[in-house]
Amino acid sequence: MSPKAFRERGYLSLFASYYRPHMALFLLDMICALGIAAVDLSFPQVSRWAMQTLLPDRLFATFFAVMAILILAYVLKAGLSFIVTYWGHLMGVRIEADIRRDLFAHMQTLSFSFYDKNRTGHLMSRVTGDLFEIAELAHHGPEDMFISAVTLLGAFVVMLNMQWKLALAVFVVVPVFLLFSVFQRKRMMRSSTQVKQKLAGINGEVESCISGMRTAKAFANEDTERAKFEAANDRYRNAKRGYYRTMAIYFSGMEFAMGILPVLVIAYGGILIMQGEMDFITLTTFSLYVTTFISPIRKLSAFMEMLMQGTAGFKRFVDLMRLEPEIQDAPDAVELGASAPVAGDIRVEDVTFRYESTSPAVLEGVSLHVHPGETVAVVGPSGGGKSTLCQLIPRFYDVTEGRILLDGWDVRELQQRSLRENIGIVQQDVFLFAGTIYDNIRYGRPDATEEEVIEAARRAEIYEDILEMPDGLNTYVGERGVMLSGGQKQRISIARIFLKNPPILILDEATSALDSVTEHRIQSAFDELAKGRTTLIIAHRLSTIRSANRILVIDGCGIAEEGTHEELLARGGRYAALYEAQRAVAAE
Ligand code: ADP
Repeated sequence: MSPKAFRERGYLSLFASYYRPHMALFLLDMICALGIAAVDLSFPQVSRWAMQTLLPDRLFATFFAVMAILILAYVLKAGLSFIVTYWGHLMGVRIEADIRRDLFAHMQTLSFSFYDKNRTGHLMSRVTGDLFEIAELAHHGPEDMFISAVTLLGAFVVMLNMQWKLALAVFVVVPVFLLFSVFQRKRMMRSSTQVKQKLAGINGEVESCISGMRTAKAFANEDTERAKFEAANDRYRNAKRGYYRTMAIYFSGMEFAMGILPVLVIAYGGILIMQGEMDFITLTTFSLYVTTFISPIRKLSAFMEMLMQGTAGFKRFVDLMRLEPEIQDAPDAVELGASAPVAGDIRVEDVTFRYESTSPAVLEGVSLHVHPGETVAVVGPSGGGKSTLCQLIPRFYDVTEGRILLDGWDVRELQQRSLRENIGIVQQDVFLFAGTIYDNIRYGRPDATEEEVIEAARRAEIYEDILEMPDGLNTYVGERGVMLSGGQKQRISIARIFLKNPPILILDEATSALDSVTEHRIQSAFDELAKGRTTLIIAHRLSTIRSANRILVIDGCGIAEEGTHEELLARGGRYAALYEAQRAVAAE
């Protein structure tokens, strides 16, 4: 479903739409739930009938046959409970998986700006926590409501039939308990949310204390850290106190209700018996019905809580699904490279760019032309907008004013996929996916053969390093994997691009200092990669700058200087100053 379809439908209809593919399981769940309620409701009536009619006539054989049937009924109920618990949860988890699939597919369409504004941790909690609560509601919601309503209603009818005065007395008291239960549960939930919020903060502090252990030791500041840790620990302890108090009130209240209700019934029943309006067996049966009341009351109040959490989670999910991606293909978008091979001619025409409509311009009136096969280096002070410029070419963001042309096409007229397939980007901080080095290199072209992967690793000058690792190409990297140096990660990302083999290249060099051997290897890998491709380099190192055909100096909002290394040095302007400064640092 598109974001538009999500916007046009209400929450309830959207929620119901997730049940549609699992209708068979849903009906099975409901039928079994009905069976469970029926067994619970018939037991007191049947045993009353057996006691009243069979026992006085000493029809013991029939009496025990009826008891055996009741036992069988409870065996059946156990079977039904199994189905409801197992298949019902399965239905819930399938709905959860469907929702998660839709959510992830939608998140993939959202643009960079969305990920700038939303933190990963926050999004993760949506994909895990929220969806779990939705699944619980999807499964328990209809079933709990159904079983509880049927049981309560059924018991009400039966009790009215048996002794209407006693039944009415019970129905005056029960709503009081129900209200108490719902109210207390709500309080419990509120304080549990508070505890969760506090815990998140405390966990953050604890994490910082632990990850800062080395710094603390270096400054001999263990005492300060311990004091901070203990303060966090105390707040953790106190945060839970309020929660446990509401929990204790709730449980003791429910215990009280469970105990007092049968006592009240028996006391008032005693009066009715005194007045000759009722017999002993009816009173016994009646008390049994009173106990069948308690569990639906508990279930209903638990359901209220689940409903609140589940609907809040589902609303957050729907709100996300309703977001329209900021960058979308035009309906008549053109496939780059479909009609002619991609030459790699990049023109930036009078481009102005702001991250937010209200924030200051990062680039203002920038124009440049990179000819096919040319290597252009962009240099300038940090924060000058170099990375931003590079992100506009693959259309990670759209220009605010002006336009960017690729082989004469405005990038907004091209299919994003075809645009990005033709651009290779080596970013400053390389992301490695959890998996082997082999998988991570093959990410550049998932159908590459092992020989091609090895060849790419060789050309990226990383193969020798890989051979020295514990499992070679099959060494596990990413989270909980082998730690790679920044230089190694960059060469892995270069290997990816060798496999991808795009006509256009964007290199965002690492700013962090590299040793001279690593720098040399990265440089020669870059040079090899840049051959025959249009290349835009954000250069921080002298060596890369010198190998460029042309150098652009970006400063403040636009291009301050342009020319070859020699031309710019001769001019003695910003570039010359920057170069001198870098050389002085390098010499040190
Ligand atoms: P450079 O690569 O020259 O160091 P950048 O292009 O990274 O410069 O940054 C230019 C300016 O844009 C900086 O002021 C930076 O704070 C801002 N900026 C960079 N990325 C974002 C973003 N995703 N959202 C908002 N502002 C950003």
